[in-house]
Amino acid sequence: MTGTKTRSNVDEPSQVPWNKRPLYKRIHWVHTLLLTLTPLIAVYGFFTTPLLTKTLIWSIVYYFMTGIGITGGYHRLWSHKSYSATLPLQLTYAFVGAGAVQGSIKWWSRGHRAHHRHTDTEKDPYSAEKGLIYSHIGWLIMKPEPGKIGYADTSDLNKDPVVAFQHNFYPYFALSAGFIFPTLVAGLGWGDWRGGYSSQQLLALYSYTTPLFASIVLLTILVSRALMTSILQGITSLLR
Ligand SMILES: [Zn+2]
Repeated sequence: MTGTKTRSNVDEPSQVPWNKRPLYKRIHWVHTLLLTLTPLIAVYGFFTTPLLTKTLIWSIVYYFMTGIGITGGYHRLWSHKSYSATLPLQLTYAFVGAGAVQGSIKWWSRGHRAHHRHTDTEKDPYSAEKGLIYSHIGWLIMKPEPGKIGYADTSDLNKDPVVAFQHNFYPYFALSAGFIFPTLVAGLGWGDWRGGYSSQQLLALYSYTTPLFASIVLLTILVSRALMTSILQGITSLLR
């Protein structure tokens, strides 16, 4: 049923042009909710949970682990085939890379190959021509126009068992590597369940946006958190 619907959307020229369709139909709701709700819950947790040094260190370490999953795995190993990796390393990359919640290897590499082939053209899924916001986060929030993203050969990835396995079970990979595993380490390791979740998710902001933008957000949060703590302490001492 879905197939028929998609085909008729693409084929009928009489239909309303993509950019004239209602905004709510062009928004990728799953991505939007993931990219707004999880940081919001994390910001709330960050304000209401004491920050433990162990949790902070673990969050930074795991943030870089998921980052290497993307840069070393998704990007250089699978999208560009820059080198070959042993099976244990491939499995590690597939897991920690999913922790950055940037989609499956197959989906990411297909878009990335199209990006290199058609850099900054209409066929580039995250063309810089569409502006800073669009090329960093907008392309995840808005659905691409059907059939617009340029062709990229991914036949090699379709034959890769690790890529296929991660793609088929991607929601489980993302949930366990992005949310459950980092929380479990802090929870079972030193009893900081809430902190493990909050700090990890705050650092994940870096994966969604540019480091500069995320630094500003993080700094603002830290400053306002310190301010709020001292205001609250002031009020408490006045009430005593
Ligand atoms: Zn590249």
